[in-house]
Amino acid sequence: MTLMYWQRDLETMPRDPLRALQLQRLQDTVARVEACVPFYQSQFASTRFTAAELRTLEDVRRLPFTTNADLRNHYPYGLVAVPPNRLSRLHTSSGTTGKPKAIFFSQRDVDQAAELVARCLIMVGATADDVLQNMMTYGLFTGALVVHYGAEKVGLLVIPAGPGNSERQLLLMRDFGTTLFHCTPSYALYLADFMERHGVDPRRDLKLRKALIGAEAHSEATRAKIEASLGIQAYNSYGLSEMNGPGVAFECEHQQGMHLWEDHYLLEIINPDTGDPVPDGDPGELVLTTLCREAMPLLRYRTRDITAIIPEPCPCGRTHRRLRRITGRSDDMLIVRGVNIYPQQIERILMAVPELGRNYLIELDGLDEMTIKVELSPAHFDGHVEHLVQLESRLVDKIRAEILTKPKLQLVAPGSLPISEGKAKRVIDRRVL
Ligand SMILES: [Zn+2]
Repeated sequence: MTLMYWQRDLETMPRDPLRALQLQRLQDTVARVEACVPFYQSQFASTRFTAAELRTLEDVRRLPFTTNADLRNHYPYGLVAVPPNRLSRLHTSSGTTGKPKAIFFSQRDVDQAAELVARCLIMVGATADDVLQNMMTYGLFTGALVVHYGAEKVGLLVIPAGPGNSERQLLLMRDFGTTLFHCTPSYALYLADFMERHGVDPRRDLKLRKALIGAEAHSEATRAKIEASLGIQAYNSYGLSEMNGPGVAFECEHQQGMHLWEDHYLLEIINPDTGDPVPDGDPGELVLTTLCREAMPLLRYRTRDITAIIPEPCPCGRTHRRLRRITGRSDDMLIVRGVNIYPQQIERILMAVPELGRNYLIELDGLDEMTIKVELSPAHFDGHVEHLVQLESRLVDKIRAEILTKPKLQLVAPGSLPISEGKAKRVIDRRVL
């Protein structure tokens, strides 16, 4: 297979010129926010920092972090770096509490975000012959529109299906010969389940070949389940609204980590407690600085996502470093009976068991009582009760070994747990703490 690139010179740029480009863009960005963003002006004043002092990439550590709270506190226009007539698009990022975060794009930002998505699509072998069914939420959420624009740039036929209504999704896939789709991992699993229940064999009845899977941290076992049940290759897509949305980092055809586009984002991995950098390869919190964004540059944004750099070069020839699969958000971490638990640890175990379906829910009640409800796969629903009891106790042992606490487990009928249209809600915490 010939290697394909969208912007070959940039994607395969040797590390030294790439770092020189990053430094120049970082200096420009910092000079711009110093000149016109009052939020950063006051941050710099309190640390007595001036843009002129930024001489190496390592000097980025002298800059302040930008947090979730900063975006909320300066909502709506407080971090904008261009005059109002240069703004061309608004997206928001909803949080679990309080005000949303407003993210502004200039025309150039819209175009650059699309270029990065185009790189991702070409990287996994998409061509103008492909038909992309975009099942993310259109609207204020960045997930659908940013991918939509990128796919149009490459020349794909884009079906702006939006999420939900699985019957209609299936109809669109059949009628228009969808080859690629974009959705959350939880919806991909739901759709596979839906097809199974409705007697649709995706290998026989549909033309699907690849999927872009994003907006939720998920495990390798989940990917394997999506790929096996739909007969496709599924690529992990990483993005966040604060950084344009999708197209920040994406897997190449080797599926071994996600290339982060370093000509657009300066990447740091820090210890979330101390803020200090961790050695390459060690897990920590991803911190990103925008290097090209016009309307709303952000310095050292704390993503709360836990990952690690893969230091080895990738056989695809791209020089932009790869990130490991996000293992969770530091915000998602649950503390149950004094133990730190990420829902993905439980998911990894559940998704590797063939008797189980694809939807699960973790409930926390009272004094740290954990109940995990998980759907059986349609093929095992009528299984022998004795067999189910054995399965249940085997699973409880596995989960206890992983998270050091013993959950209650309920195996439920396929399709009986709620399915959300956007990001899946996997944890319901009713504890009174
Ligand atoms: Zn690669």
